[in-house]
Amino acid sequence: MLLEVRDLHVEFKTRDGVARAVNGVSYSVDAGETLAVLGESGSGKSVTAQAVMGILPSPPGRVTAGEVVFQGRDLLKLKESERRKVRGAEMAMVFQDALSSLNPVLSVGDQLGEMFMVHRGMSKKDARAKAVELMDRVRIPAAKERVKQYPHQFSGGMRQRIMIAMALALEPALIIADEPTTALDVTVQAQVMELLAELQHEYHMGLILITHDLGVVADVADRIAVMYAGRIVEQAPVREIYKAPAHPYTRGLLDSIPRLDQKGQQLYAIKGLPPNLMSIPPGCAFHPRCPMAQDICRTDEPRLNKLDNYRQSACHFWEECLDG
Ligand code: SF4
Ligand code: MG
Repeated sequence: MLLEVRDLHVEFKTRDGVARAVNGVSYSVDAGETLAVLGESGSGKSVTAQAVMGILPSPPGRVTAGEVVFQGRDLLKLKESERRKVRGAEMAMVFQDALSSLNPVLSVGDQLGEMFMVHRGMSKKDARAKAVELMDRVRIPAAKERVKQYPHQFSGGMRQRIMIAMALALEPALIIADEPTTALDVTVQAQVMELLAELQHEYHMGLILITHDLGVVADVADRIAVMYAGRIVEQAPVREIYKAPAHPYTRGLLDSIPRLDQKGQQLYAIKGLPPNLMSIPPGCAFHPRCPMAQDICRTDEPRLNKLDNYRQSACHFWEECLDG
């Protein structure tokens, strides 16, 4: 296994108390595999990724328990200087907002080239040639000319391609993409997602795709982990989830995807809001919003149960949910 996150816990100290952002998350990704991590904002999906990357803002954030085993070693036990070597070279991240992640006063060629000069000891000329090659790779037209341009001279979709090129530069074994297409138009979203999937296959990388939108990952993910209030509530192969979700929260997310054949119809929305992480409801954290909640849900926390070799659900009534 390329990456195994085991029973990870992350807390944030705030003025008002301790926010339990991640509460015992376990997931794994293999080489060549795509795991989509799905959930509303505040579900802990980004914080988990930041802990994996070692870029958690700490303080106030702190990993209080768990392991992040990457290529056989627990990254949480490494010194910061060692972790820095892993970042970029062995695992890289693509963020939502390319404009604020790229340096506005450096040409994209200089930014891409710098990776090769710093990490691979290349000459400026060779690094520039590599930058052009990478821009070709992510299908930016006229790469030879555009390599001299600055980030603001590119469209949002093209900038996101540049971010992907930066992440790919050192051929990492794992890429984590946090809402990589959220800021883009729907058609551009699909193109960027397709590119990411294609490159992931080509390089045989592991890919963690973090999103709040189940619609954008359907075609590219192998497995989906659904997060709620800092926990995984369902994990399954993507086809199974689409056929029949085994958790009412997943069902709610599925029902809120816009569909072409339902134009004009009112979209379903899960009622209420995700919980305050400083006071997560007792029992099942989802119970105040769950259309299937019973008395037991208010008192007994459902464990993440194995339904079969591929599937897990944390719902007392997963069987009823499966039956629709
Ligand atoms: Fe809903 Fe109860 Fe299942 Fe939680 S355990 S998702 S409240 S039915
Ligand atoms: Mg986020």
